[in-house]
Amino acid sequence: MNKEILDKINRFTRRPLAENELYTFSVILCDNDIDRDIECFSDKALDMLKDGFVGKTGVFDHNASTLNQNARIYDTELISDDSRLTKDGRPYKYLKGYAYMVRTDDNKNLIAEIDGGIKKEVSISCSASKRLCSVCGCDRNTTGCAHSKGKLYGNNLCHTVLDDITDTYEWSFVAVPSQVNAGVTKHFSETEKLSYIPSAVSDNDESIRREIRRLAFFAGGTAAAETASVSAKSMNTAQLVKFRNSFEKYCTGGLKLQLDTKSEETENYEEFSMK
Ligand SMILES: [Zn+2]
Repeated sequence: MNKEILDKINRFTRRPLAENELYTFSVILCDNDIDRDIECFSDKALDMLKDGFVGKTGVFDHNASTLNQNARIYDTELISDDSRLTKDGRPYKYLKGYAYMVRTDDNKNLIAEIDGGIKKEVSISCSASKRLCSVCGCDRNTTGCAHSKGKLYGNNLCHTVLDDITDTYEWSFVAVPSQVNAGVTKHFSETEKLSYIPSAVSDNDESIRREIRRLAFFAGGTAAAETASVSAKSMNTAQLVKFRNSFEKYCTGGLKLQLDTKSEETENYEEFSMK
């Protein structure tokens, strides 16, 4: 480890740490490819994420017993991979995060797992204030358009371009191999992640309903997701956009929503909303 790296890390520590006290590793935080939510980050968004993730904590488990097992990003780098193109044929780029952990007796096994490549998949949390239609460029946060996410227009797969990152939150390791996933509010439970597979999105309203459902799940767990799904069923596009936006504001701490949730589900929110 050279001094430059050590200096970068020690900007975040209470006292200067020596090399033998530290464990460093790298993770891929996100990329510019279209993900399974049929969303991708714009170049501008990736640049903002590059700055935004420096200093952010990564957690290995939302379980309280492993609270001390976390890592911190001390540097980030945008890397172009010339051997690869995105699904829609753009040069592939990804955001690499360099992280450190302070070695303790408690995290010996964890470090072995990272070294062994077991815990390399991460998911990230961030908010994007603009969500552009890739076909017409309209901002789906404020308006609807005639294009449906997941549908082909000529040779172009309609997707949502996430632009203008307003916040980056924590990142976390996921135990299951899942694609590093670009999205607005990546707060899922593991089960929700696995069940959320938009294989054939054909209807814009339906995709907004799905987003409402996952945001509601983050806000208040299963009960809230169910309640929101029922409400969203009878809404038109304008109402859906409004409903989704209020959930987003709620999820980023800007608005309080009244939801009929059980107390145990509400705890879920506390757990996933650390900022
Ligand atoms: Zn459009």
